[in-house]
Amino acid sequence: MKKSGSGGDARRERLKVLREAALHRKVLAKLPTGFDGRWTRRHWMHASLFATLGALVAAIVPGFSTAMQTPKQGPRTSMALALPQLSLAQLRGHPGDSWQTISVERGDTLSDVFEDLGIPHSELQRVMAHPGVKSTLTKMKPGTELSFDLPVDGQLRAMRFNKDPATQVQLTIGKEKISESVVAKETDVRTVVLSGKVGKSLFRSARKAGLTGKNVNQLTDDIFKYDIDFDSDVGADDRFSVVVEQTWQNGELVNTSPVLAAAFTVDGKLHSGFRYVRNGKPEYFTAEGRPLQRAFIRMPIPYARLTSRFGARRHPVLGTMRMHQGVDYAAGTGTPIMAAGDARVQFVGRKGGYGNAVILDHGRGYTTLYGHMSRFGKIRQGQRVPQGTVIGYVGSTGLATGPHLHYEFRINGVHRNPLSITMPPPEPLGGKQLADFRVETSRALAKIRTVENIIYAEPKRVASAAKPAPAGKKG
Ligand SMILES: [Zn+2]
Repeated sequence: MKKSGSGGDARRERLKVLREAALHRKVLAKLPTGFDGRWTRRHWMHASLFATLGALVAAIVPGFSTAMQTPKQGPRTSMALALPQLSLAQLRGHPGDSWQTISVERGDTLSDVFEDLGIPHSELQRVMAHPGVKSTLTKMKPGTELSFDLPVDGQLRAMRFNKDPATQVQLTIGKEKISESVVAKETDVRTVVLSGKVGKSLFRSARKAGLTGKNVNQLTDDIFKYDIDFDSDVGADDRFSVVVEQTWQNGELVNTSPVLAAAFTVDGKLHSGFRYVRNGKPEYFTAEGRPLQRAFIRMPIPYARLTSRFGARRHPVLGTMRMHQGVDYAAGTGTPIMAAGDARVQFVGRKGGYGNAVILDHGRGYTTLYGHMSRFGKIRQGQRVPQGTVIGYVGSTGLATGPHLHYEFRINGVHRNPLSITMPPPEPLGGKQLADFRVETSRALAKIRTVENIIYAEPKRVASAAKPAPAGKKG
C-alpha cells in the first residue's frame, strides 16, 4: 500500500513538471515568429481588423436575434477544456480552482488515469460502483475528456464526464456517498454574417465560410432557385453573404440555424432573400416582402427530357388516338420525383394504367398526379408534404413503354396543361407583418454590407482597375 502510494507521488511529480513545460511551450508558440516584444505596424493592423470583425459579429442583426427563440444561458462552469490542464492556482499550491481535465489516450483505462493522478484504488472502486459509471467509462474512446476536482494535497472531491454527447454529469464524492448531478453546459448563441467568394465550388467555399450543407441547399433550392442559375450564371468572383445563428457549447459549434438572410452578388447584381415566419410557417421573401417560393415547381423531376406534350396523340401502347392528359418526362429508373407544391397526399398506390401513382391535393381545387413510379417515397395517405419532398421514383409500371414520369395537373377536376398553366402569385406580406419584416431585413442587409465592405474592399479595387488596363498600357 505504502509502496504504491510513493510510486503515485513520483508519477504526480513527473506529470507536474511535464505539464508546466507544456504550459510554457504553449505560451511561446502563440507569439508570432520573429516577435521581439514590440508590435510592428502590421501587428497593429491585424489586431484592429480582428477587433472590428469581432465587434461586427457581436453586434449583428438584433432584429433577427429577438425573432428567434431566446438563448438558453446556462450557468457558467469553471471547467477548463483546453490547456492549462493543471490550473495555475493548483500549480502554485493555492486552494480554489483545482479542476483539471485529462484527455484519454489510446489504451488508457479509468484505472490508469486514476493511477496517474495519484488517486487511491479504493476511490476508483467507489466511483466504479456508482450506477451508470462502469458502462460509460470502461469503453472510453481516445480523446474522451474527464475532469477531476483534485486539490494538490487533498482527496478527489468531484469528477465530471460526458454520459452522452449532450449530457455532462458530475459525481460529487463525499465521505459517505457519491451524489450525481447534471452539469449545465455554457451555451452561447451568436448571430453572424458568413461571407465568401464562389471560387471553384460554391459548396466548398460555403462550407469553408462556416455554412452547413443544409444551408447551401437553402441558398440554391429555397432562396435563389428562381433568380440565379447556379449551373451557368455564377462565376468564381461572385460572392455570398449569409446571416445564420450559431449555437456554441463550451467553445464547440453544436448547431447552425437555417439561413436567416442571404445576399448573392452575381456579376455585380445583388440578389437577396430573407426568412420570415408567416402564420407559423417559415418562408423566404424578397426585400420587398414577396415570397421567393412559387406555388408550383415547373418540373417535378431533376434532369429529365420532355418526351410527350399535353394534347391529342396516338397512345404508344394502345395505338389509338386519345387525349394525353398530362406531360411525360423521360428519365432513368430510380430518378427522384418531387411534390410540385405544398400538398396533402390524397392517394398512394396502384392505379390501372398509371401503375404506381401518387395524387397530391394542393388545396383551392388544385391536384397533381404522378404515374408509372418504380417505388414510392416515404409518404402515406393523408400526410402533409412540403414542396420538393421526394414522393416516389421514376419507373415503368402500368401502361408504359419505358421508364418515364407521367405528370398531370388538374384544376377542379379538369385536366390542364402543366406547362402553360399560369398560377396566381403567392400572397406577399402586408400590414404589420410587412412592417416587422422591413425593420429586420434593413438591419440584416446593412450588416451584410458592412461586413462585405471590410472583406472585399481590396479585391473590388483590383477588379475595377483590370478593365481599363489595356488602354492605359498603350501610352
Ligand atoms: Zn403520359
